[in-house]
Parts: sequence; C-alpha cells; structure tokens
Amino acid sequence: MRKAGQVVAEMHERIRAAVRPGVTTLELDAIGREVIDRRGARSNFLGYHGFPAVICASPNDVIVHGIPDDRVLHEGDIVSIDCGAVVAGYHGDAAFTTGVGAISAEAEKLILVTEQALAAGISQLVEGGRLSDVGHAVQTVAEGAGFSVVREYVGHGIGTAMHEPPDVPNHGAPGKGPKLRVGNVFAVEPMVNLGAPDTRTLADGWSVVTADGSWSAHAEHTIAVTDDGPEVFTLPR
Ligand code: MG
Ligand code: MG
Repeated sequence: MRKAGQVVAEMHERIRAAVRPGVTTLELDAIGREVIDRRGARSNFLGYHGFPAVICASPNDVIVHGIPDDRVLHEGDIVSIDCGAVVAGYHGDAAFTTGVGAISAEAEKLILVTEQALAAGISQLVEGGRLSDVGHAVQTVAEGAGFSVVREYVGHGIGTAMHEPPDVPNHGAPGKGPKLRVGNVFAVEPMVNLGAPDTRTLADGWSVVTADGSWSAHAEHTIAVTDDGPEVFTLPR
C-alpha cells in the first residue's frame, strides 16, 4: 500500500505543478496517466462503474466526481483533483484542491480549512480510538470556520479494493463505531462547502455539485493506523 501511495503522491505532485490558467482538465488527466504507466501501476478510477478517466477533476461548485474534459481552467478558479493507483493488488486514493493562478481570500481559506479538517481527522487514527472520532474532528474544524461538510459522500476503508467497509463520515458525535486497531487503513476525505451542505448530481451521472452553487473543496489521504500513530501513505517520502 505504501507503493501505491507513492504513485498517487507523484500524480498529485505533477498535476498540481501543471494547474494554471488555460490548462484543460483532460490535459491534467493525461499527466496522471503518464505517471501510472511509467511506474507500472494500474488506475483504480478508469473503468470504475464506467468512469472514463484516471482522475476526477472538480472545479469550483463541483464537489467530487467531475469528469475531465475540454473545459479550460481560468485564473481565480479552484479545482479538486482526486486520483488513485493500484500496485501489486493494493490501492491508494487521495485528493487535493488548489487555486488556478491568483484566487480570492475566501477560496484560499476554503482550501486551507479543508486541509486542516483532513489533518484533524488523520490525527484521530490511533490505536484504541473510535472511528467516529475522525468525522467529529473534521466537522469541528470545518464548521468552526463557518463552512459546511457534505453528508452524502464519505471516506472509506481501503486495501485490496478501493472502497472497503467501513464508511468514514465527515460528521457526527465522537466515541462511536469500531475501535481502531493497528493495521487498519482508511481513506479520509472531507468535502467542505462555502455554503450549505446539500448536493445534486448533474445529467452526466457523475459530477456532484453544491445545490446552492457555492464553491467546494476536497482533500483526501490514505492512512494506516500503526504502532507509531497515523502513517499517511499518499504523501511523498
Ligand atoms: Mg479519492
Ligand atoms: Mg476515496
């Protein structure tokens, strides 16, 4: 899983460096494909329930599952990139949100708070903790900053499949759910909206947008519970 995580980390690094005004989300997808092919990995996004690309690219009010296309990113936009890889049968899955050129202070804060919410969730992945401590920590950070967390889409266990039980919601009371044990691996992925938490799905059957049109950010890592605390597989080493 560490190897799969490192492929995802390189996809993130290269795609992040390529995000600028004038680039299309399809060009970002091609960068992801190049990394996967060069490293001899397999995409767990391509073909997933028929998904046509190796990344999800979700600009502005798109929360998750945006399909890469000829859409050009413009100065001031934000875009969430979600992607994964499989190495030797083990999966990695991670997402980030970044600005396109210079962005508003409000958009900067949305991205920063989403990253802080993810970090707060990750810090709960310690032996003996309870799974709902993760969502509680995420929700506390996001709502404490005046934003909302999406309810309909959640994090998940991950291993020999991309999505394994249990669900990892981004909200809820602490101290509930399964006890965390060394060796558990989860994908924690807050989706944070500037406005209300409600979502709707576009006619393409994939793109999930905010119901009120407000912008949304997404951040995700694949993390193991270890004897030394949480280990993030999808950060570059
Ligand atoms: Mg993901
Ligand atoms: Mg995921």
